Amino acid sequence: MFLPQEIIRKKRDGEVLTTAEIEFFIKGVADDSISDSQIGAFAMTIFFNEMTMPERIALTCAMRDSGMVMNWEHMDFSGPIVDKHSTGGVGDVTSLILGPLVAACGGFVPMISGRGLGHTGGTLDKLESIPGYNITPNNAVFGQVTKDAGVAIIGQTGDLAPADKRVYAVRDITATVDNISLITASILSKKLAAGLDSLVMDVKVGSGAFMPTYEDSEALAKSIVAVANGAGTKTTAILTDMNQVLASSAGNALEVRESVRFLTGEYQNPRLYEITMTLCAEMLVLGGLAESSEQARQKLQAVLDDGRAAQCFAKMVTGLGGPKDFVENYDHYLEKADIIKPVFAAQSGTVYAMDTRAIGMAVVSMGGGRRVSTDTIDYAVGFDDFIRLGDIADQETPLAVIHARNESQWQEAAEALRKAIKVGCEAYQSTPDVYGQIRAEDL
Ligand code: URA
Repeated sequence: MFLPQEIIRKKRDGEVLTTAEIEFFIKGVADDSISDSQIGAFAMTIFFNEMTMPERIALTCAMRDSGMVMNWEHMDFSGPIVDKHSTGGVGDVTSLILGPLVAACGGFVPMISGRGLGHTGGTLDKLESIPGYNITPNNAVFGQVTKDAGVAIIGQTGDLAPADKRVYAVRDITATVDNISLITASILSKKLAAGLDSLVMDVKVGSGAFMPTYEDSEALAKSIVAVANGAGTKTTAILTDMNQVLASSAGNALEVRESVRFLTGEYQNPRLYEITMTLCAEMLVLGGLAESSEQARQKLQAVLDDGRAAQCFAKMVTGLGGPKDFVENYDHYLEKADIIKPVFAAQSGTVYAMDTRAIGMAVVSMGGGRRVSTDTIDYAVGFDDFIRLGDIADQETPLAVIHARNESQWQEAAEALRKAIKVGCEAYQSTPDVYGQIRAEDL
């Protein structure tokens, strides 16, 4: 038997907690015998003293086990259960493309996704722009769609890692969100509760990333790989660029449109292609579906080219209540904004930098994201035909096309984009799409 205040004191004084102490504390979080103030104090001791890897593994496993841990044995899937999670970005529509691609190569992807957070878009919000798509099916439907389509992307159910829900809510109001031990445990407790064989973590780097510097993103990636593998789930992290909007669009329905067009081969943004293929290839390698990244890429290209990946997407949409002909007739189903027109730079020049966070916030300001959790989303608004770093912006090539509800919203968004996209004669420093990967054996 432990006392919560003694556990907090021990960590406050820089000592290392035992697994039993961490399990006791998290059990108390889940059954409400530990108060919000004790959770806040516990989080602050970790903020100042960090946790060792064994402590992080114990915290992650305790939070994962605080609710239901999914088990897919009864579904008899004929391939590995694999998933990807990202630290969040702008125009980051990889999940919608990657799930069907991996499914078409023989993987099973029961993806539990989140809503937009701050400046980042949320996969669930994007999917809800598809009429009829049910993001909260029961577990039987979730399992069946995963089996039939190879992929099902849905929202978090209340009983997955409930301790994280409480801890996160307290962190949010006690300035303890930005801590690598706590972020690692928070992300992984939810992901590992989905009963995965393996996981690929997309850790973003750059002006739209959750972590402020490359070094912080790398430290988070290393922490996640060490902890997830320590908790028994094969995991690789890939550091990818978020110094500009990833896809050519940002905004819910617009990103869904871009993902369908990507899967059918109508239009493939090259950066989105490179990052998505890198993540997918690692999923196939970790899941034993390919012997090397090169072989994985060949398989992925084949299912992209012959339409099998697009079919998996179509099956997922139909299985979860969306229109049967969504892939063929997406423009008929996706809501459109009233004012659609391009915005040009104030003066011509090379695009040498983007404040990607500010662009994400511009989508939120238009109603494409939430400021508070009760806000409703306008699926139609956002940007497409986004210019890229290194391009020349002039009176023929706009910064983007703005999809707005009315003229004043268009003006405000135009102002935000002109500020966020830096155009001039400064030298443009190109950054790689993929910075590198961290596998368990690299640690
Ligand atoms: N996302 C999460 O789920 N948890 C964190 O702590 C940070 C980002």
